[in-house]
Amino acid sequence: MSDDITQPGVPFSLVCMYCDDGMHIDSYEQAIAEGWSDISYEPHVPMANYLGICPVCREEEEKPSKPADPE
Ligand SMILES: [Zn+2]
Repeated sequence: MSDDITQPGVPFSLVCMYCDDGMHIDSYEQAIAEGWSDISYEPHVPMANYLGICPVCREEEEKPSKPADPE
């Protein structure tokens, strides 16, 4: 299973799905190195080509007190 979800010809830009962080990320490798997770190609997102969860929000996610995901 490949974990490289980048699309050919699509410039890598990333935004956190919870806090809109990620404008400083230039590559998938950098995102992984900084602790991002759940990165996926999201062509419908206006702010960036990829959506993910930043390290800060991932920590929040892992806390049991956080309300359930709206889905
Ligand atoms: Zn975040």
